[in-house]
Amino acid sequence: MTCLTLSVFQICGLNVSKYFEFYLLRYLLSDFIMSAPGIIRKLSQEVVNRIAAGEIIQRPSNALKELIENSLDAKATNIIITVKAGGLKYLQIQDNGTGIRSEDLEIVCERFTTSKLCSYDDLKEINTYGFRGEALASISHIAHLTILTKTASGKCAYKASYENGKLKGPIKACAGNNGTQITVEDLFYNVIARKKALRSPSEEYAYILEVVGGYAIHNSHVGFTLKKFGENTDLKTAIKSNVLENVRVIHGNSIARELMEIQLNDATLKLLLHGFITNVNYSHKKGTMLLFINHRLVESQSIRKAVDSVYSTYLPKNAHAFVYLSLELDPRNIDVNVHPTKHEVQFLYEEQIIEKIKSCIESKLLSCNSTRVMYTQARLPGATAVEEIVKKTTDGAKVYANNMVRVDADVQKIEKFFPVISKPSEDITSGKDNINIDDASVNRKTETDQHNEIENDQEIVKDNIPNLVVDDADVLANSLIDEPDEPNKMPEKWKSHIAADQTNLSYIDPKESFKTRTFQYERIETRLTSIKELRLQIENKCNSNLREVLANLIFIACVDCHKSLIQHSTKLYLCNTTKLTEELFYETILYDFQNFGFIKLSNPLPLEELFILGLNSQEAEWNSELGKVFGVVHFLICLRNLGFKTFDIFFR
Ligand code: ADP
Ligand code: MG
Repeated sequence: MTCLTLSVFQICGLNVSKYFEFYLLRYLLSDFIMSAPGIIRKLSQEVVNRIAAGEIIQRPSNALKELIENSLDAKATNIIITVKAGGLKYLQIQDNGTGIRSEDLEIVCERFTTSKLCSYDDLKEINTYGFRGEALASISHIAHLTILTKTASGKCAYKASYENGKLKGPIKACAGNNGTQITVEDLFYNVIARKKALRSPSEEYAYILEVVGGYAIHNSHVGFTLKKFGENTDLKTAIKSNVLENVRVIHGNSIARELMEIQLNDATLKLLLHGFITNVNYSHKKGTMLLFINHRLVESQSIRKAVDSVYSTYLPKNAHAFVYLSLELDPRNIDVNVHPTKHEVQFLYEEQIIEKIKSCIESKLLSCNSTRVMYTQARLPGATAVEEIVKKTTDGAKVYANNMVRVDADVQKIEKFFPVISKPSEDITSGKDNINIDDASVNRKTETDQHNEIENDQEIVKDNIPNLVVDDADVLANSLIDEPDEPNKMPEKWKSHIAADQTNLSYIDPKESFKTRTFQYERIETRLTSIKELRLQIENKCNSNLREVLANLIFIACVDCHKSLIQHSTKLYLCNTTKLTEELFYETILYDFQNFGFIKLSNPLPLEELFILGLNSQEAEWNSELGKVFGVVHFLICLRNLGFKTFDIFFR
């Protein structure tokens, strides 16, 4: 046929090149082959298993997820994970669960062998993570797998290695702890294309961290440890911890301190919701969404979108929150068997459930939206200062008037437009020094101003601060006009704050602020009248409004080493931290007197020698008229031995 076509071309006088001939031939042949039906063959078991394995284990973190779920199903309370090269070279998980019976070791890695499911109907009420009996089989088809396991009743541990779902070599008896240790080496060694498609080991490790972090938060009663082989631990949560603590350990305090608990119980939808979500103070470019449905870590685009849409009203554009949600649905309303990695689940009444979640989050956010906390961060080394950026962008480029901003501190300042308050100073608290609280809305400065202020502190204090300092208690009281009039009484608006159940902004009764610290041991109430009198002086002279401000302040930032900005209710104050600290320590000493702890020495100190040292020291200014040092020492020791109470203060 080709010859015929070619000769037709030749007859027509066309100059057909070799290249053209080749493609023409291919085209005509493919046409011929395509029209013939394909031959159907049965794939070999090895190919089937490897394809299935590739679906279930798409990357090291999938394998780890399956192994963690197995450990949790085996009631483990401590799980230790060790990883090398993002889990591609080496992935080991050790648990203290039930272990695997030695009789089962032979078939444990075969496909569809499980201890969790007997009939299809069991799937309706399944409460274990696993049920397909595919994970270990899949892993053994694409990696070298070794299991070391010991049951509580077993005399010793057993070790077995697997390849393509089958035992490789004999099962060996050996020493080991109760529980199971599974080691996966050279993952995807026989699926080169998959291995090549994977990202860098560090990226794979990030996925692993995500999975371990998620499970550690949701299973806070279980201790999780994750480390890279031969390196320090990256993640460690305690056994019997709690969700908040684990979020703090894994995601840091900046998220944990903004978390609010949400709960919902809907009998009609058979829905139980529990979770922690960040309030409106927190936002992040990426955000985190940890969603567990019936304890499975899953992805749900519709729930993610719904949550984002609620937050979009409160957060800046393209910013997201940290959300941890645990949904418990009636197992009969949920299908867990829709995705090879069980990464997605389908459930009934999805729309109604999403609406419930939305309104639950919405009402929680609304209740905390009245106050926002601003946290500042020091400039990181190497970061460009604002002036530098401005200089860079303006150098050589034409700047239009509408784009101009004030960058020179000497140019007119915003303070000029605010009224100036000035009053003579008066004692507010202890009677020794003033605590200066300046209304910072009058005193806000630009970054450039603050920079100059540090260099030229004295001058600035003279020029700007003194006439703005509010030293007088009356002025302070005025500035707190919409705050409590009656001392120590909680204002109405604060009550709503408490109702809002804000974890980090709950109202503190100023009276409580006199109680300073909590102690591990029993608190001793002092009986010294001198101390009691000094305390009384503080309490009588204290300004209750100021105490209320201090008890419920929100720290914003340090302005310099002596002043900081604080917020109380809707007002900003500039606070003299040096004086405040002096006062704090003075009060702490008075209120914690006799409660600063004690050190118990294994060998008691020689009291006699110490007395002599003390009495002979210069500070003691020993008056020889009082008698011989030794005599006095003897007398003091006798008093102590007789149980004279006053001495206990010093001897404790
Ligand atoms: P599935 O979890 O779906 O049952 P797997 O292949 O993950 O299937 O595990 C097969 C079986 O091996 C499980 O049913 C369980 O009995 C046993 N097993 C696996 N890992 C562990 C473990 N860490 N501790 C105790 N038993 C385990
Ligand atoms: Mg499993």
